[in-house]
Amino acid sequence: MRIVMVTTEAVPYAKAGGLGDVVTPLSRELIRLGHEVRIYMPFYSGMEKPNRGKRFFLHHGNNSFHLTLYTAGPEKDGLIFHFLESPPLFEREGIYGSKREPGYRDNLLRFSVFCHALYPSLEQLNWTPDIIHYHDWPASLVSMYGRILKESNPLREEFSEEIYSNPAYVLSIHNIGYQGVFGIEEHKAMDIPQSDLASLGLMLNGTINLLQGGILNAHSITTVSPHYAEEILTPEYGSGLELVLLNRREDITGILNGMDYDQWDPSRDPYLPVPFSSEDLSGKEHVKATLQKTSGLPVEKETPLIGMVGRLVDQKGIVPFCAPDYGALYHICAEHPVQMVILGTGEAWCERELLVLEKKLPNLKVFLEFNDSLAHLIEGGSDFFLMPSIYEPCGLNQMYSLRYGSIPIVTRTGGLVDTVEDYRNEGEKGKGTGFIFSRAAPEEIVEAVRRALTVWQQNRHHIVELRKRGMSKRFTWEESAKRYTDVYKKGLSNKSLFR
Ligand code: ADP
Repeated sequence: MRIVMVTTEAVPYAKAGGLGDVVTPLSRELIRLGHEVRIYMPFYSGMEKPNRGKRFFLHHGNNSFHLTLYTAGPEKDGLIFHFLESPPLFEREGIYGSKREPGYRDNLLRFSVFCHALYPSLEQLNWTPDIIHYHDWPASLVSMYGRILKESNPLREEFSEEIYSNPAYVLSIHNIGYQGVFGIEEHKAMDIPQSDLASLGLMLNGTINLLQGGILNAHSITTVSPHYAEEILTPEYGSGLELVLLNRREDITGILNGMDYDQWDPSRDPYLPVPFSSEDLSGKEHVKATLQKTSGLPVEKETPLIGMVGRLVDQKGIVPFCAPDYGALYHICAEHPVQMVILGTGEAWCERELLVLEKKLPNLKVFLEFNDSLAHLIEGGSDFFLMPSIYEPCGLNQMYSLRYGSIPIVTRTGGLVDTVEDYRNEGEKGKGTGFIFSRAAPEEIVEAVRRALTVWQQNRHHIVELRKRGMSKRFTWEESAKRYTDVYKKGLSNKSLFR
């Protein structure tokens, strides 16, 4: 199949979150399965400009945009990137916003032009995909422009008929919390008449909702874990789109993200002072000692060390974890013989509170920065890894910690459920790979940590077995890419059913 990924993020060029990590390795694996894959994304400032570029105009609303389509590749494995350049739209400090302007005011225009321009871009390339796979709200309009141009736009004659008739549209939802919501008065930015907004599925509660449009116009839909695929059908997790999703239930598939086993391999991780593996865990003690030294904590082999890495935002459970006078963190550190190392950046109140707690608690060390090498050291040197997420579409950190023998303690939600098995004190070796609590509430977080520490103190051989079982788990892109291929086939067969 010929597949074009329509995305606003893809490593190594642009990444703001998990989406950026998914698109490139998935594409490479699809190529390995025999598909032809291209990634279409904006050209942002700071990126290196490839030599080959095709210039063209896009009439969009009352404006004419001068655009350039650059091509990088094919790379060794055959992957091709296409970058859409429009300096006024994409040469900015950030992808979606900046520190001063968290969401750029003209985001609707920016991503509308990006989506609209896919079609003339394909025309320029003389390349017709079988699958248009679009990711999250910023790429959602691609399915609507496909429909509009197919049904009514007079410009259609300029383009090949095939580009509109051939492809199946597949949407991947990486986080339903971000939907691309805009005031109805902004509709002109999309170059879509107000009278068409409802029939295109773009209207929700009196506002424009791009993700809803993306859902309603997709032939097939994926999310990033099987459990999250179920959760988003409920009012608790659906963020207002649960009814729309329930109507498409048959067409939704949860496919777990793979993780990068080259970058995250404790037996040859350049960020670790010594390597270790499930066959020889002795190096892990050395890594723990290095982490303790780096953190200014006493080097104590017997004291269990709990690590945490991540964005300090609501989704990650920062309120139940460290809200003043209430959060779990104080109780964990003040009342238990543990050490805790936290690496993260995010909401100002949370960063402030962590510093306050760090002063009060000698066994807590906080790093408020983005630091890849320290993230590896924490994964390698921790005995346990805490993720008290309120929701977690897939989550990567628990997969890394399993791989690094850092036993995850996680909320029963989303991808955490699909990757971590709760400990049970059964048989010689015990069962499971981590500790799961049912809700991100302070008392539940503390209780789960207490459960883990009890096993540490009373059943240390189970800790070793938990570690080994976790380290042997594999969440590969190869498996996931096969599942995406099935979804593409489903999309193609659904194509005959609607649109
Ligand atoms: P999300 O995509 O919701 O942020 P994930 O667990 O899926 O959460 O992935 C987060 C990724 O970002 C992981 O690779 C994690 O190690 C990394 N990360 C997050 N914050 C930091 C930080 N402060 N320093 C280093 N790496 C970080």
